[in-house]
Amino acid sequence: MRAKTTDGQEFDLKQDLLDGLKMRMRGQLLFPGEPGYDDSRTVWNGMIDRRPAAVARCLGTSDVIECVKLAAANDLLLCIKSGGHNIAGLACADGGLMLDLSAMRGVWVDTRRKIAHAQGGCLLGDVDRETQLHGLAAVLGFVSLTGVAGLTLGGGFGYLTRRWGWTADNVVGMDLVTADGRVVRASSEENQDLFWGLRGGGGNFGVVTGIDYTLYPVGPEIVGGIVAWPASDAPKVLELFRSLVEDAPPELTLVALMRPAPAAPWLPKEWHGKPIVALLACYSGKPEEGEKVVVYYGAANRDARIFDDPDRFDVTRTPNEHLAFGGGGPHHCLGAHVARVEIEAMFAQLLTRLPDLEKAGDTEWLPSNFISGPKHLPVRRKRS
Ligand SMILES: Cc1cc2nc3c(=O)[nH]c(=O)nc-3n(C[C@H](O)[C@H](O)[C@H](O)COP(=O)(O)OP(=O)(O)OC[C@H]3O[C@@H](n4cnc5c(N)ncnc54)[C@H](O)[C@@H]3O)c2cc1C
Repeated sequence: MRAKTTDGQEFDLKQDLLDGLKMRMRGQLLFPGEPGYDDSRTVWNGMIDRRPAAVARCLGTSDVIECVKLAAANDLLLCIKSGGHNIAGLACADGGLMLDLSAMRGVWVDTRRKIAHAQGGCLLGDVDRETQLHGLAAVLGFVSLTGVAGLTLGGGFGYLTRRWGWTADNVVGMDLVTADGRVVRASSEENQDLFWGLRGGGGNFGVVTGIDYTLYPVGPEIVGGIVAWPASDAPKVLELFRSLVEDAPPELTLVALMRPAPAAPWLPKEWHGKPIVALLACYSGKPEEGEKVVVYYGAANRDARIFDDPDRFDVTRTPNEHLAFGGGGPHHCLGAHVARVEIEAMFAQLLTRLPDLEKAGDTEWLPSNFISGPKHLPVRRKRS
């Protein structure tokens, strides 16, 4: 079988090595053309179309070790897919051995210590679903279908970040398989340097098979919702956004985004596929207080808006999911999240392209901007 080395050279990977791996694994080892191979290599960004030499659907840490050892012994390129949401498609490499962790999605909640252990293939929604049974939540991201591993390794931020910091700052420890096939624990007590690097370093330190998160009391009911305007109103809406986030309490997270309107039942049909600008809100404190705080529904530019929907709902369905943003896949991504300073320039650019965007319809995503006012955002601690 043709495969690639870690520096991109093609070589012939002997079939008996793969047969041996297949026998030693409890999960499946899939090759091009076999059922399931294409599902595994599909990632969120539909513009990525790469073909690994084989896909290992690992069922547990032992399977991961077998794959890592085989790859290391043969200088075989290895890639790891958890949620597949990395926009550059880093989870999938041409000619590599792909570790698909989507069968490793167990979550265990220790209510006494307020810690959740999530397996390396969990999606954000898997964790929320189990922790919410106890009225608890981990600091994760905005869209339930994102993988916890990639998000946490990159730092991670979401609806609870303004209250409790980055996802990586709320990790108690991680279990991983290193490049030499060892199982190690990284925490403030063990392998501290590794632990420091894993929390924001973006990967390549090993294969993370489990993550322990600190939990906080949130939900199970929260207040959230969205207001949408025609995209041409973006300058006014951004002004409103800025004034709201300036004094917003830590419990309130606001997101500004500009994109084609999804074909969602909550939007008038004539707006489907047309560019809109929207403000998304999530108040993670008490719903009674949230209803008072989610002020922008009655605020400026009211007449021009095309939709609003303040609501109370279950945390396990985030406002994004509830409102049909960010679900499904794959998507065509034209850009990535950007820093606050760039938001105005980016929105201004998009405004000059409104006629093109009209044509793009619902199949293409515009860069959205996930920003919550900086006032209460805790600063990542420095290495001691
Ligand atoms: C729709 C959407 C919404 C998003 N929302 C947020 C958000 O709210 N907050 C936020 O912080 N980010 C967000 N992101 C960015 C996202 O967190 C990153 O793209 C992250 O890399 C996705 O993780 P994943 O596990 O889904 O991705 P994957 O594509 O599976 O993996 C991403 C990278 O991490 C590596 N990796 C994955 N799993 C492991 C593992 N177990 N061990 C070692 N390395 C691993 C992969 O090899 C790859 O390099 C969003 C992205 C999208 C597309």
